Amino acid sequence: MTRRRWIAEHWDEATATLTGAQAEHMARVLRAQPGMEADVVAGGHVFHAEVAAVRLNRDASEVRLNLITELEADPALPVTLTIAVYKFDHMEWAIEKATELGVAEIVPVIARRTDKHLAEAAQKRAERWRRIAHEAAKQSRRSDVPLIHEPGALAARVKAASSATRIVLAEQERAITLRTVVEEAIEAAGTEMPVLELAIGPEGGWAPNEAALFDANGWKAASLGPRILRAETAAIAALSVVASCLE
Ligand code: SAH
Repeated sequence: MTRRRWIAEHWDEATATLTGAQAEHMARVLRAQPGMEADVVAGGHVFHAEVAAVRLNRDASEVRLNLITELEADPALPVTLTIAVYKFDHMEWAIEKATELGVAEIVPVIARRTDKHLAEAAQKRAERWRRIAHEAAKQSRRSDVPLIHEPGALAARVKAASSATRIVLAEQERAITLRTVVEEAIEAAGTEMPVLELAIGPEGGWAPNEAALFDANGWKAASLGPRILRAETAAIAALSVVASCLE
């Protein structure tokens, strides 16, 4: 598992400093002490670091870290995107953009409202999707290429065992936003990076029995706001929210 990353407010060649909410969280919730290890982003580079000093103060908490070694920037977000198969041209666009945004894996699934012809043709499309992901990864200078699974039945994916926080994007969900669910996952993961899976439905949306299946298998329903988005827009919006919370 990747360690959670902290984003330094101030840094120099050898040290980095966290202030405000990050310092409060590290000091109070995680009880940081000198010697504790952490990964910190300083000036766009990721470093393995060690806490040097912790100051808890009502308005001016601060955690100072000594930078130890620079890490290879990890290009992928710890996110798997499950997408229902729908119009291939739109779907290919979603695969390309999701790759640029850092997705680690894409799982195409056949949903109730996936067009029958597309469901049959999907089996022959995986290679093309892999090429698209490969091109997009090169273009966005990722050093890895997202893994594109063979298309399969939605139910099998929904029920599969997973240690990720699993989130189903649903326009019917009004109360809980994706941001809230991701922030909870970050809290729960402590010093680790949370691992997430996001599911996006086909053009016609999830069927009621699919929504029930997600719910019965511990997936959390989340909203991207009051407007109905096309599936490819939903994929981009969702990954942007996740990236802004994690990076
Ligand atoms: N049933 C809809 C269209 C579904 S949009 C209609 O009335 O036409 C396709 C998919 O995008 C949905 O299944 C959902 O996963 C995602 N999506 C679209 N808008 C969303 C929103 N506001 N919040 C969360 N997910 C959304």
